[in-house]
Amino acid sequence: MPELPEVETVRRRLAPFLEGRTIAMAEVDDARLVRPEDPAAVAARLGGARIVGLGRRGKYLLVHLDDTSTLAVHLRMTGNLLVGADTVPAHRRAVLHLDDGSRVDYTDLRRFGTWQLLEGAPELAEFLDARLGAEPLDPDFDAGTLRRAFAGRRAPVKALLLDQRLVAGVGNIYADEALHAARIHPETPAGAVTRPALARLATAVRDVLEIGIAAQGATLRDYRTPEGGYGSMQERFQVFDRTGEPCPHCGAAIVKTRVAGRGTHLCPRCQRRPRA
Ligand SMILES: [Zn+2]
Repeated sequence: MPELPEVETVRRRLAPFLEGRTIAMAEVDDARLVRPEDPAAVAARLGGARIVGLGRRGKYLLVHLDDTSTLAVHLRMTGNLLVGADTVPAHRRAVLHLDDGSRVDYTDLRRFGTWQLLEGAPELAEFLDARLGAEPLDPDFDAGTLRRAFAGRRAPVKALLLDQRLVAGVGNIYADEALHAARIHPETPAGAVTRPALARLATAVRDVLEIGIAAQGATLRDYRTPEGGYGSMQERFQVFDRTGEPCPHCGAAIVKTRVAGRGTHLCPRCQRRPRA
């Protein structure tokens, strides 16, 4: 599932193709993508609009239009935005035809992705604020951000890292990588993480996301860059998807367990289980 680095990669790679272009015509072929709105109505609204900028908040890609509306795209499990395809790609659910004759294809095998058209800055802000907490690449994201988010919480620290309303954009891959880099066991009650460990974690979250962006994301199955290429972050995983392989830090075998209902990878030596 695309996380912050994958969505940020899509944003950066798509921006040169989209920014300043006018959407000559839009087609939405899957009602599920825009529900409860009418697909034809959404397509009609997009047609003729000029794209003034591409933004991102958490895992949302934000397509800002010249009429002050914003199309908020969430790729969920298997959504991809593709440019330059010779033929109509498989599982295409929507397409933007641009005024230079190019097009952007939206494909989605599992069909969990969403396109939501938000009218004006206040509606956009309300939409995002209701769903998303701290942006981990913002300059003011630090140990204090995590301390306030985790205060008094007994849930496992990994569960809270995955909660988009607390920290936006972190999913299963980057949560495991960040907790390993910070040497914190994923089941540690969030409110019991020490101040030095919170400082390590704030740094680690930012670091693993930036490494992921530099690698253009992780392609495990479905994620592709807009040109159809693969990310390479999977080659840089320290713990994720490395069950039984040696921890790059200490050599102990990585183990897989289950935390907050999610498959979780950790080093049993670097990430000591908290005492009960
Ligand atoms: Zn280790």
